[in-house]
Amino acid sequence: KAKTLGRATYHFYDGVMGKQFARNVRIETRLRQALSDGEFELHFQPKVDIVTERCVGMEALLRWEDAELGTVSPAEFIPIAEQTGIILALGEWVFEQAFRHIVEWQEQGISVPPIAVNCSAAQLKRVDFLPNLLVLLDKYKIDPGLLEIEVTESILIEDAEGCAELLRQISRLGIKLAIDDFGTGYSSLSYLKDLPFDYIKIDQVFIRDITEDRNHAALTHAIIVLSHNLHLKVIAEGITNVDQLIMLQEFGCDIGQGYLFSKALGANSMGTDPMIVALNEKDCPE
Ligand code: C2E
Ligand code: MG
Ligand code: MG
Ligand code: MG
Repeated sequence: KAKTLGRATYHFYDGVMGKQFARNVRIETRLRQALSDGEFELHFQPKVDIVTERCVGMEALLRWEDAELGTVSPAEFIPIAEQTGIILALGEWVFEQAFRHIVEWQEQGISVPPIAVNCSAAQLKRVDFLPNLLVLLDKYKIDPGLLEIEVTESILIEDAEGCAELLRQISRLGIKLAIDDFGTGYSSLSYLKDLPFDYIKIDQVFIRDITEDRNHAALTHAIIVLSHNLHLKVIAEGITNVDQLIMLQEFGCDIGQGYLFSKALGANSMGTDPMIVALNEKDCPE
C-alpha cells in the first residue's frame, strides 16, 4: 500500500520538501524498531552552580545510533516520536533507564546528584503517567528527591488547568519541576506564579549571543529577576564561553549548563569525569 502511494505521488516529494518527508518516514520506520533493537542510550549533561562551578545535577538526554541511519539527533527524532505516539514507550524507557543508572551509580558508591528527565506533553497528558511513574520509582527504590522533570511551555498552552493539577501532584511527591526552553514559545511568566515549578531554564538562543545582543541580555536579566521574585531558580542553557558565564554571574543566575562545562557524558563517566568526581569528594566545603 505504501509503495503504490509512494509511486503515485512521487513527483510531489522530488524536491527539498520531498527529501525531508522521505527522511521522516524512514526515521519513523526505524524508530518503531529501535527500542527493541536496543539502539538508544542515555547520556548525562552536568548542571553546575554558576558561582562554585560544582555539579549540582545531571540532565538525561537520549542518544540514538541506528543501524541504518547512523546517529540521529533528538532534535530530529523527538518531534517524530511525538507525532507518532512512539514517545510514550520511549518516554517510559527513559525513566526506567535513568533509574537503572541511578541504582548502578549508587551501588558503585557514587553520590548521585538529582537527575533531570525531559518529558513531552504527550506523555504528561496520559492519565496513567503518574501511576506508571510511581510504580517505577517503587520498583527501583528511587528517592523522588533525586528526580527532576523538565517540560516545555507547550503543555501549558493546551490545557493549563488540567496540567496544573498534575504538576501539583508531581511536586507534592518531592519531584522537582523545571520549565525548559523558556523564552522560545508563548512565554508568560504569569503561568509560573500559579504553578509549582522549581526551575526555569532560559533557552540557549538567548545565551548564545548574550554578550553581543543587548536585547537578549536585557531579557535574560529580567527573566532572572522576575523568576527570583517568584522563588524559582534559574538555569542558563548553552553556555559556551567565559564571557557569557561572567555576565550570567553578574545577573545573579543560579545554575549553568553548556559545553563550557561539559557536553552530555556516557553513564560510565559518572565515576571518572573530573567534575563529577569533584562532586563526590566528601571533604569538599559545604
Ligand atoms: P533540551 O532539553 O533543551 O536539551 C538541551 C540540548 O542542548 C541538548 O541537545 C544538549 O546536548 C544541547 N546542549 C547543551 N549544551 C549546549 C551548548 O553549550 N551548545 C549547544 N549548541 N548545545 C548544547 P540534544 O541532546 O540534542 O537534545 C535536544 C532536545 O531533544 C532536548 O532539548 C529535548 O527537548 C529533546 N530530548 C532529548 N532527550 C529527550 C528525552 O529523553 N525525552 C524527551 N521527551 N525529549 C528529549
Ligand atoms: Mg531539557
Ligand atoms: Mg532546553
Ligand atoms: Mg530543547
